[in-house]
Amino acid sequence: MFRNFPMISRVVFGRGCFDQLEDILAGKRRPGSDSMVFVVDDVFEDSALADRIPVGEADALLWADVDVEPKTSYVDEMTDLVKAAVGDEPAGIVGIGGGSVMDLAKAVSLMMTNPGSSADYQGWDLIRNPAVYHAGVPTLSGTGAEVSRTAVLTGPERKLGLNSDHTVFDQVVLDPDLIADAPDRQRFYTGMDCYIHCIESLQGTYLNAFSEAYGSKALELCREVFLGERTPESDEKLMMASFFGGMSIAYSQVGVAHATSYGLSYVLGLKHGEGNCVAFSQLEEFYPEGVSEFHRMAELAGVELPVGVTHGLSDAEMDRMIDVSLGMGPLWENALGADWREHMSRERLRALYDRM
Ligand code: NAD
Ligand code: ZN
Repeated sequence: MFRNFPMISRVVFGRGCFDQLEDILAGKRRPGSDSMVFVVDDVFEDSALADRIPVGEADALLWADVDVEPKTSYVDEMTDLVKAAVGDEPAGIVGIGGGSVMDLAKAVSLMMTNPGSSADYQGWDLIRNPAVYHAGVPTLSGTGAEVSRTAVLTGPERKLGLNSDHTVFDQVVLDPDLIADAPDRQRFYTGMDCYIHCIESLQGTYLNAFSEAYGSKALELCREVFLGERTPESDEKLMMASFFGGMSIAYSQVGVAHATSYGLSYVLGLKHGEGNCVAFSQLEEFYPEGVSEFHRMAELAGVELPVGVTHGLSDAEMDRMIDVSLGMGPLWENALGADWREHMSRERLRALYDRM
């Protein structure tokens, strides 16, 4: 079966295009359902951006705390808050922030129309009803969350996305000004998520012309951004790299870095970008050129990666990490082929984790 996946319906791109949001949303307000809900990264409380958010009288603004990555319990709490503030039928949900806030906004928009807890929908195509209108405004670039059909959540039992056709944003607003002031270290970690998406997609067994077309362009842009001088165009390039990187993996898959990073984040709470970097830095045996180029990029960015993050873990914790990682079958299959289990024993994976 070939994947028949939906794409975001509308995209606006360009410096300052954030100010068009008011007009864009005006077209979505309807009598009886005219409230917009803005879910905004609380890093922007008291910022100049906060004053530019077009919050109308009937609207609600919720500040999102993403110090830890989104949990299903937080999504459920936020869904209740939205219902209490504006009722069951808001005109739309707008997420303004990095991958975490975009995923939160996607998840809340789905939970407005699907009963129960968001944990019930972690998996593939479990969502039954279309979401309310939802728009994403990235303030960090790299995850590809702006284009993907998933909202990654940590639930009581696992870290797994709400993967569905209804998850995809109806609108994204790509304003490179919004990512310009992100701290260098965060910019690097999130940007490297994109670089790693490209390497894993382009070197995977699932590669095809669709993924190659998007992935090779995204990789070229990442190289310009992270190996060249920083210029005002760097933000525009990084934003498009993230978009294209996300499109590339939509029709292929990620690989060993993501498969191992999921274990790191589940057991150690490492965030997606940082976990990917810690993992990828030790994966020369799978991605020799990519890893060497990555180290050059880290050096140029002046970022020193954490080392020895798994040291001191108990055998039980290591086993849990290995279980989580080996549960990512499609990622391993993309990286190593259909017979991946013959190449990736628990012992080999343990040795990889010991190095991280
Ligand atoms: P993030 O959204 O977790 O944010 C990281 C930190 O940067 C936070 O403290 C945030 O407050 C801050 N921040 C955000 N924008 C800022 C700005 N402009 N200036 C200053 N600080 C800013 O980081 P991320 O790397 O964009 O996203 C990671 C999340 O995305 C994880 O939860 C991961 O699971 C998810 N993810 C989702 C997908 C998907 O397809 N849905 C793909 C990859 C990752
Ligand atoms: Zn990723």
